[in-house]
Amino acid sequence: MTRFSEPETLKMARLGRELRSQGIDIVDLSLGEPDFDTPQHIKDAAKKAIDENWSHYTPVSGYLDLREAICQKFQKDNHLHYTPENIVVSTGAKQSLANAILSIIDEGDEVIIPTPFWVTYAALVDLAKGKVKLLKSTLANEYKITPAQLESAISPNTKLFIFSSPCNPSGAVYSRSEIEGLADVFTKHPDVIIISDEIYEYINYAGSHESIAQFDELKKRTIVINGLSKGFAMTGWRLGYLAAPVQIAKACEKLQGQFTSGTNAVTQRAAITALTTPLDATFEMVKEFRRRKERVMEWMQKLEHFESAEPDGAFYAFPRVQYYFGKSDGSEMIKDADDLAMYLLNKGHVSTVTGSAFGDPDCLRISFANNMEKIEEGFKRIESALSKLR
Ligand code: PLP
Repeated sequence: MTRFSEPETLKMARLGRELRSQGIDIVDLSLGEPDFDTPQHIKDAAKKAIDENWSHYTPVSGYLDLREAICQKFQKDNHLHYTPENIVVSTGAKQSLANAILSIIDEGDEVIIPTPFWVTYAALVDLAKGKVKLLKSTLANEYKITPAQLESAISPNTKLFIFSSPCNPSGAVYSRSEIEGLADVFTKHPDVIIISDEIYEYINYAGSHESIAQFDELKKRTIVINGLSKGFAMTGWRLGYLAAPVQIAKACEKLQGQFTSGTNAVTQRAAITALTTPLDATFEMVKEFRRRKERVMEWMQKLEHFESAEPDGAFYAFPRVQYYFGKSDGSEMIKDADDLAMYLLNKGHVSTVTGSAFGDPDCLRISFANNMEKIEEGFKRIESALSKLR
């Protein structure tokens, strides 16, 4: 347990709650989940499942018809052919990641993770006693790693590579040619397994979603992670899934069989509806995220010392803020992004998340999973708080 700390994302949510309980009005731009409600037809499917008594233990890896629906989704959206034995359904994509990482990593195995990355990857590798090797992406390259960087990072000890596209926190989305460039490198290193976290697949402003599993040579050793949390506004329902070669899927099933068994039966029935009906509600939600993203980018221009790439996916801006390091409002000195996030919370009353939580201590993550009015108010507060720093 000493190897773990509280995730910064959850810490900011907790501190925001504490200030609110003291009567302080905090604008929350730290949220990691859609602020929308689950679409009605999915809720109706869950109500029907309750009435039909879907209330028993489920198969550990999920109902067969759900796993078939997931296979159809992969075929339709990604042109990937899987059969139900490749699929394991879990209690959120977080558990899918835990299953995969704990199944694959032994003590001392090297795991390459490009920065910035989602908090949980490194924590799970630590839990498995693997060795995290961070690979720094830059603003100049829109927070995407290059094939040359990947090539030079891979060593004979590299067991696993973990990344997300669209990326939380940077919003980076790898294009077809960029993903092909990485695939060419992996083809030369047949022992490296890949975890491709595609949970933000539908929240994409750039166009097509490209999975690294589309390359046959890599599909044999790629684990695709996905789930309902982000694309269907279903974070609290807890359903994630992975598609993996059978041997890895079996290992994940075995582990899950001891940890949690199959996830919630009602959620699984509702998930079948979510995955097999038109995505109109998802597209409406993404349309609104795009509108907000455009407004947030206008703010990024206005805040001249924030340097930001345009997010092509997910719902976060990830500006570099190191201009403010060493500055003070007269009573408090900002040393780093942790201090800046705390300053904005305590003095500006707006919550963001420090980039150090995501392996990039020069940045802040600002979420636009909040309504336009709150976003506007949040950025006004940020502007005002920053203007006091000299
Ligand atoms: N992967 C990424 C990149 C995420 O941002 C999140 C949630 O924040 C997850 C996985 C976990 O999703 P779930 O709610 O399905 O556990």
